[in-house]
Amino acid sequence: MFQSLVALLIFLTVMMIVCVGIVNRKVVRNRKSVVHLIWTAVFTAACYTAFILVPPGWHRLAVFMDGLYFLATDWLVVYLMLFAAAYTDVHPISKIPRRVIGLLAGVDSISFLINTFTNHMFDLRSLRSEKLNLYYWDVQFRFPHAIHRVFVYSIVLYSLLILLYRLVNSPAIYKNKYSSILVQTASVVGLNILCAVVDTKYDYSVILYASLAISICYLALYASPKKLLERIHSTIVGDSVIGLSAYDNNGKCVGVNRVARELLKTLEADEDIYATAERYLKEWQEEHGDSESNTVGEEKVLEKGSKKLYLFVTYQKFLDEKGRIQGSCFQFENRTEVTDQFRKEQYIATHDTLTGLLNRSAFEEECRRILSQAGEPYCMVCSNIQNFKLVNELYGSRVGDRLLIAQADILKGLAGKNAVSARMYADKFSTLMPKRCFRRQEFLEKLSKISDMNLVSSFRLHYYVGVYEITDLTEPVWTMYDKAVMAIDAIRGNYERSISYYRDELLQRILLEKEILGEFDRAIEEGQFAMFLQPQVSARGELVGAEGLVRWIHPVKGIMYPGTFISTLEKAGLIHKLDLYIWECAAGKLEEWKRKGRGNLSISVNISAKDFYYLDVCEAFERLIERYDFDVKSLKLEITETALMENVHETMKALDGLHALGYEIELDDFGSGYSSLGMLKDIDADILKIDMIFLQETKQAKRSATILKNIITMAGELGMPVITEGVETKEQADFLMEIGCDMFQGYYFAKPMSIEEFERKYFEE
Ligand code: C2E
Ligand code: CA
Ligand code: CA
Repeated sequence: MFQSLVALLIFLTVMMIVCVGIVNRKVVRNRKSVVHLIWTAVFTAACYTAFILVPPGWHRLAVFMDGLYFLATDWLVVYLMLFAAAYTDVHPISKIPRRVIGLLAGVDSISFLINTFTNHMFDLRSLRSEKLNLYYWDVQFRFPHAIHRVFVYSIVLYSLLILLYRLVNSPAIYKNKYSSILVQTASVVGLNILCAVVDTKYDYSVILYASLAISICYLALYASPKKLLERIHSTIVGDSVIGLSAYDNNGKCVGVNRVARELLKTLEADEDIYATAERYLKEWQEEHGDSESNTVGEEKVLEKGSKKLYLFVTYQKFLDEKGRIQGSCFQFENRTEVTDQFRKEQYIATHDTLTGLLNRSAFEEECRRILSQAGEPYCMVCSNIQNFKLVNELYGSRVGDRLLIAQADILKGLAGKNAVSARMYADKFSTLMPKRCFRRQEFLEKLSKISDMNLVSSFRLHYYVGVYEITDLTEPVWTMYDKAVMAIDAIRGNYERSISYYRDELLQRILLEKEILGEFDRAIEEGQFAMFLQPQVSARGELVGAEGLVRWIHPVKGIMYPGTFISTLEKAGLIHKLDLYIWECAAGKLEEWKRKGRGNLSISVNISAKDFYYLDVCEAFERLIERYDFDVKSLKLEITETALMENVHETMKALDGLHALGYEIELDDFGSGYSSLGMLKDIDADILKIDMIFLQETKQAKRSATILKNIITMAGELGMPVITEGVETKEQADFLMEIGCDMFQGYYFAKPMSIEEFERKYFEE
């Protein structure tokens, strides 16, 4: 009995020392109070053990050791109280009561130490138990010891009350935390009191001090936080936006949270969710084999009817220290929203929002991809609407948009597989397609169907299609596109043509244009442009005037004809500079002729349609009147009907202004374009200039002759003199004379010539 008590006490003391070691290594709340408490419990148990081991006859030592034991209990209860306050988070015991309690415990402790010599607290006597055959120390308490008891029990009572208060007021999960300490502390006190009352040989409550200290240590370390953590974990898992399904070592599903449940349901609507989860694991394992890595993640797509779910699935194995699988789990991260958003942004970044076709940059990338895999010839096809800007101006951008959408839809349908279409900008579309798929007739017919939509009733929709048959698949995409656009540029403005193929000459042409534009300003400054004159004669064969035609006397290339540079300058918006220069030459020449007595001769100058965009034409001619002294009627202004058609409103206004200044207008190239007789009604022109081109090269010369005859008759009736240009033969001249033409211009009479030559020829005769 005695030996087992000693052995138990020693064992518990060692256990407590181990506990201190563990607590010191772990992260524990209130570590200080736990450690203090256990150390005093160790000290108490050790003192008591030492005391009962004191042999009979060593009376003073026994009193000293027992005194130490009582002294230790003082501090044990003090630290128990401090621990209880910290453990329960009841407001910490403030400094003053703490000092008072410490002082009392100190006084009590000193009293026990003095007791070794005075025996005023207690005394001992050695008794022998015959029954147990051993000596033991019997304690005889003196009155002051009762004060010690009151002190100790009050503090214990206070500690118990704190614990009780917390026990009552805490959520269920924490009750266990307080109740076990409360019960154990109460048991210690109970047993202690019992031992005193019954007057046992030993104070058995010491055993409980030690076990209380150990269980406090355990609770502080694990009990509550662990349980709480478990609960928190399971709540987080349950409510998580990440789906989780967990499996044991045999692949049996042990849990599926709400999100995983919903996701897995998309695989199998009715089946047991655990079975579905297990099958999913099996399929995953079949797909991935026995992967080395413990965590594998990849993107997966689950199809739910027409809807797609984008998931990121992570599979994680949990191994023990020996590498055996303990369990595993799937994490399903639903990225559908993010993916949808990303796709939407990607779509916006790569597509034209109006038509749904690719945009420029995406087109280039797609072309590169297609061409890198191309096993057959390809072509780049560009298309756009003639004068699209006008559609927007006349009908509003909504109609313009509808036209573009219609065009895009047609291109989508025409391109087919292994092809791609894009809207490059405004009304410019481009399509890369296999050459065998491009059927020009079908392409044009489909495009012309847009006119049938009646979006722009009175506007004549004209499409241009430029085709570049790709010779080198590795050429930059933009070069291919530029070449297709070059093909269009070659026919732009020509209503009779809709489709044009790129030829290398076009590139030469473009280079030449660049050269022209680069040299133009200097050429004007240096006076490289000269006005040539082509005589105009009357039906009686008399010289009535001349048309001023520009020639570029190039220092290197020699004489360049307007055909090579006029359209380039028009496109570049520079023609008005040249025209102003020529008009000035003509006015200057007329002034000179007037002075020389040749005021009866006229000069006709050309006005480009583009002049009306960049110039106040009226003002320009008004200035000529101010600066040069010539008869206004002798400077005749030639405007083509196409120029008038392009900008009807503006030009009409300008014509009125020019008339008001006294100028006469010649309707140039009449009959060569889409002129209608109706135009004669609307346009206030003074002279009709008929283009002979439409008399030539036709098989139906007779019909043309009839038309020409009627035009001349009609012009006569309208009071408009007629001049025919391009007269090359005597027959033509005779015929025209016969049908009543008033004036003539053409190679038959004379080619355009320099002013010097003109003056020499006509003035010196
Ligand atoms: P256009 O105004 O119709 O000028 C008549 C063109 O026909 C001139 O060509 C002239 O040389 C040519 N021609 C004259 N008689 C005959 C003939 O019997 N047979 C043939 N086949 N052709 C004949 P050119 O000088 O090369 O001018 C071409 C065009 O350039 C002009 O056509 C005119 O539209 C434009 N142009 C010429 N000078 C100017 C100018 O100063 N300003 C502007 N804006 N355009 C000009
Ligand atoms: Ca002309
Ligand atoms: Ca003409």
